[in-house]
Amino acid sequence: MRCVRGYGVIIDVEATRSIRQAEVGSTKTMLDRVKNRFDLHTERLIADTAYGTGPMLDWLVDRIIAPHIPVIDKSGRNDGTWTRAEFEWDAENDHYICPEGHELKQFRRNYSDPNRGPTGKGTALYRALKEVCQACPSKANFCPNADARKITREEHEDARQVARDLAKTKQYEISMKLRKKVEMLFAHLKRILGLGRLRLRGPCGANDEFLLAATAQNLRKLAKIFPAPQQKRKA
Ligand code: SF4
Repeated sequence: MRCVRGYGVIIDVEATRSIRQAEVGSTKTMLDRVKNRFDLHTERLIADTAYGTGPMLDWLVDRIIAPHIPVIDKSGRNDGTWTRAEFEWDAENDHYICPEGHELKQFRRNYSDPNRGPTGKGTALYRALKEVCQACPSKANFCPNADARKITREEHEDARQVARDLAKTKQYEISMKLRKKVEMLFAHLKRILGLGRLRLRGPCGANDEFLLAATAQNLRKLAKIFPAPQQKRKA
């Protein structure tokens, strides 16, 4: 289900099986449908980590929708060595700069055949020069057991970085509070309107039930937002 900021009014529903890919797909469907049907452009999508995959973040950033979503990040290390976050990305020159100021490159020579060069697709591997790392005073912190430090860069790393940068903003903090409000709304749908268990069968039945429940929820909300005018008592 999709809600409008602040008021908690549901503006679209889409029934799916409860698997991550289907839920992510239904979110895309709803975002596009709301845009086409109501001409409403979504400024930001607030969601949990399940939506923080590279392709989903890229899809959002492409449509100028700010992803207020925790990024799924597997670049963390559990051997105590410093992570990719310590390296600075230089997009113009397609390389990382390590804290000692050295370059980690994907390719160190120019290929005459363009098909052999960087493709920008898939996971790319960036390496420091072996002789530079061997002579580096920080080697123990970066690659104690390897000749040189390597780091990977995912295909949708730019979009993931957009989400990481947004996660440091004040607006993101507000979004996380709003997310709790929306989750309360869904809890209410389950507990009070009995949506925890569906009565109709199949995806169409589920969609009908969601639609009716969302309508009832919205009417309840709208009654609170626009209370009925008080009738004056007759003298
Ligand atoms: S070990 Fe290599 S990559 Fe790491 S800081 Fe030293 S020179 Fe840079």
